[in-house]
Amino acid sequence: MGFWQKTMIAVACSKPLRRMGEAVGRKTGLAAQFVSGDDIAGHVTRARDLNGQGISVSSFYLGEYVTDPAQVTRTVDQLADLIPELNAAGLDVHVSIDPSQLGYMQDPAMLWDNALKLAALIGEAAEVQSDARCHRLMIDMEDFAMIDDTLALHDRLRDIGHPVAQTLQARLFRTEADLTRKIEQGAMVRLVKGAMAPPASVAYTKRSDIDANYLKLADMMLSDAAHASGFLPVFGSHHRELVEKIAALADVRGWSRDGFEFEMLYGVNQPLQRDLVSRGYRLRLYAPFGEDWWAYAWRRVGENPRNLGLLLRSGFNR
Ligand SMILES: Cc1cc2nc3c(=O)[nH]c(=O)nc-3n(C[C@H](O)[C@H](O)[C@H](O)COP(=O)(O)OP(=O)(O)OC[C@H]3O[C@@H](n4cnc5c(N)ncnc54)[C@H](O)[C@@H]3O)c2cc1C
Repeated sequence: MGFWQKTMIAVACSKPLRRMGEAVGRKTGLAAQFVSGDDIAGHVTRARDLNGQGISVSSFYLGEYVTDPAQVTRTVDQLADLIPELNAAGLDVHVSIDPSQLGYMQDPAMLWDNALKLAALIGEAAEVQSDARCHRLMIDMEDFAMIDDTLALHDRLRDIGHPVAQTLQARLFRTEADLTRKIEQGAMVRLVKGAMAPPASVAYTKRSDIDANYLKLADMMLSDAAHASGFLPVFGSHHRELVEKIAALADVRGWSRDGFEFEMLYGVNQPLQRDLVSRGYRLRLYAPFGEDWWAYAWRRVGENPRNLGLLLRSGFNR
């Protein structure tokens, strides 16, 4: 991880900067670039607008590495309230969660109860909607040390028939083996490069190596074996070159444009988003909502300096 990304993570974590920034950001609208609503009502309205443009949404309630149990409860309550609202609006009931938001830092039983509750609610909604692929509890992947527990959570929910999906990180050496198992299961996997900075003993660190591994894994996700097992591929990236290569490979392999998804973060690389939709690909946006936007927005700036321009412009345009 380079100097820029480390500095931006420090900005994301700094309490004094956060206090000052939250006040200014809220006033100027700085938060709005990457956040789809302050609350459930605002988020659902935005999701409906996007749906009208042919774009689906995965809802994410803001807050990461939650150490306060009251905040875990608030997160679960917010998502439990959101699910019927999405359903009533005729939208995908697709929710992304970090295990660390649902109790991972506190107690495995708390994480399980919360994940089970949300997965069951989504399952009920999926029963009444037509395309069950669209209704999922998507589990994000966080730190390297959490991977086995996170995959076990996915498997346990899946084994009892709940509509879950799993994010895997292309920068890790182990992902090829994890993905092989998920393909055999016929699971739904969202492949991302990985936002964390694991050590070189377990992960590719050079950008070109990460990109090459992403493409190798994408090739597996679009293989005949994946097709045959009912595997559902999701490619989470804003990287046009990778996205175009994957789109071309999917065509060559005979996947319909409806048979897999591209997913991007709300507010990032909108020209690519528009291109994909106009060409008939399925696009979903990872759409955060809630008040706790500061750390999330600065991590995005850390991933790509171009996002600083977007963030600042969004502030001045209001
Ligand atoms: C839907 C989704 C879910 C995610 N979930 C997780 C998760 O669970 N765990 C995790 O560790 N990480 C997650 N991430 C983050 C991910 O790991 C990467 O850090 C992030 O997506 C940046 O990688 P990238 O593939 O977009 O390409 P990058 O390597 O960041 O960028 C490559 C290229 O993309 C283009 N690009 C990027 N941003 C912009 C922009 N703002 N404007 C124009 N062009 C741009 C540029 O051409 C750039 O050179 C998720 C990302 C997405 C999209």
